[in-house]
Amino acid sequence: MAPKVPAKRRRSARLPGHYGQEVSKPSEKRDDEAILSDLATASGEGLAILGLKPALSALSEGRVKLLLISTELQSQPGALCTSCRALSSPEAMCPICGAPTAPVDDIVEAAVERAVHSGECRFVRGEYLDAAAGGAAAIVRY
Ligand SMILES: [Zn+2]
Repeated sequence: MAPKVPAKRRRSARLPGHYGQEVSKPSEKRDDEAILSDLATASGEGLAILGLKPALSALSEGRVKLLLISTELQSQPGALCTSCRALSSPEAMCPICGAPTAPVDDIVEAAVERAVHSGECRFVRGEYLDAAAGGAAAIVRY
């Protein structure tokens, strides 16, 4: 007789800002559309940033209110400034202050972590974000 496994379900712990938490739960289509609508509005006000590299710059400057990451965006290497903590694509020197950088295995994860500390991060289905923004976009405060 097979041992009976108690049907105990672990309550899913909501760890605020834990990377991957939102990925496991596919966004509702209308949520994605609402976010993209917000992005379009921000774009009209000059407050939208499209593309991972410019989004990293804005994150480093603490300007990002909402970071949008495509669920299709692949992990990729990047760099972290040893002086001002700026995030960037892999470069030997910090594009902001010129100090040496340290390599980061996954700049996407680093960006997500940075975003949840200074604002918010949402994952959007790739079909909404990839063509328009290359997998990453941000709404900035200024
Ligand atoms: Zn720097």
